[in-house]
Amino acid sequence: MVKSGEIFTPDFKPIPWWWEASPRRDDDGAILPQNTQVLIIGAGYTGLHAAIQAARAGLSTTIIDAEDAGWGCSTRNGGQISTSIKPNFETLKKHHGEELAISLLKEGQASLEHVEAFVRDESIECDFKVVGRFHGAHTPKQYEQLARECDTHHPGFETGAWMVTRERQHSELGTDAYYGGMVFPHHASIDPGKYHAGLLKVARAEGVKIINRCAATAVAKTAHGFSINTVKGPISAEKVIIATNGYTGALTPRLQRRVIPIGSYVIATEEIQAETMDRLFPKNRILSDTRKLVYYYRPSPDRKRVIFGGRVSLWETDPRKSGPKLHAELINLFPELRHVRISHSWAGSVAFTFDTMAHCGEDNGLYYAMGYCGSGVGMAGYLGSRMGMAAAGLEQEPSCFTHLKFQTLPLYSGRPWFLAPSVAWYRLRDKLSF
Ligand SMILES: Cc1cc2nc3c(=O)[nH]c(=O)nc-3n(C[C@H](O)[C@H](O)[C@H](O)COP(=O)(O)OP(=O)(O)OC[C@H]3O[C@@H](n4cnc5c(N)ncnc54)[C@H](O)[C@@H]3O)c2cc1C
Repeated sequence: MVKSGEIFTPDFKPIPWWWEASPRRDDDGAILPQNTQVLIIGAGYTGLHAAIQAARAGLSTTIIDAEDAGWGCSTRNGGQISTSIKPNFETLKKHHGEELAISLLKEGQASLEHVEAFVRDESIECDFKVVGRFHGAHTPKQYEQLARECDTHHPGFETGAWMVTRERQHSELGTDAYYGGMVFPHHASIDPGKYHAGLLKVARAEGVKIINRCAATAVAKTAHGFSINTVKGPISAEKVIIATNGYTGALTPRLQRRVIPIGSYVIATEEIQAETMDRLFPKNRILSDTRKLVYYYRPSPDRKRVIFGGRVSLWETDPRKSGPKLHAELINLFPELRHVRISHSWAGSVAFTFDTMAHCGEDNGLYYAMGYCGSGVGMAGYLGSRMGMAAAGLEQEPSCFTHLKFQTLPLYSGRPWFLAPSVAWYRLRDKLSF
């Protein structure tokens, strides 16, 4: 076991490992224009995909970010791509009726296909690979539950998933910590930093103006659209798209009341011997499990490191504190990695919602897409594109997600006081396996 003082490599960095290949400084000296047809606030996947659609529709398009473009989750995530839909068909049907439930699941599938088509069509080099996901059952009961879901076939949105028993588990993953699991063959992996850099390039080529370190501080309706104050001066816009997800703040209080910001944490290990990586990750899958406070992990695209993420804290901001907690969980799964140190540790703020679904639409004339509940690599780009097209007047019915009621709680203003007790309860449930 590494001693606590030696858990970090001597060249440890408290930044995303992805930033080594895609450094964050991104300023082409663009100046904030006085007006634009479409203004997008937030330059992550949501904002950039929206901007690309608006610009392709022939509209002058500007995107601003409070930090450098991509500073948010879009260069910090684990690079795992799923359909981004958490509730199963039965739950969706119960809450929204069968027709909408089927449409939502189909759009989840469409979001997965959207990334693949986009990176292929735009020739973005970002290590996109359809590697499939192994979703481990952390209790025998969870295995049975997964097996029941696997057996339920719904015409039109087949996942193609299959079960792997505990006895055969080592063909997927070198651990005995799970009681078997389910494989989703269509899920994919990507280098999130390279993907974001590729999106920036496409947006610029389409004529989008990208203004960094330009926080919007106020937005007001006018006769012809909106007037927006920023730290770099005012700008007027005919249409505005809010793409701030886990960083949604007082600029848009109605949206702030509808998302729950929560920290998500990741470490990268130092390089590991190829034989060990081959034994632990024989199929190169992305990985997650059935725990309420899920762990998500994968080999790095070069298969030399483990990228290991989870919700080990709520709002911890010091990666030197969150890193060792993740390391302990990594070792619980793979005891033979006890001597492997952490080279990078980082965090970001994701946005949960009260119904665990993403949301998009128009609120008082402002378009928005957000609330990906920690699974937005595919969905953010997909719903961002739909909102870009809607703002450009190309889509009257941009997405069935616009039919979901974007709920809040009485007295909730964006500070989730209720999270600490719920997370403590989930942690206990996961630990005691009930
Ligand atoms: C550690 C971590 C791991 C994750 N792993 C995965 C994963 O493996 N798979 C997956 O599907 N999802 C994952 N996610 C979630 C995924 O990254 C996000 O859902 C997705 O990136 C959201 O993109 P976005 O563009 O909506 O928001 P972001 O990329 O967060 O961008 C929002 C931007 O808005 C800007 N902003 C906020 N307020 C203002 C303002 N007033 N003015 C100007 N700009 C403003 C911020 O500076 C920020 O750059 C992870 C997230 C984290 C943090």
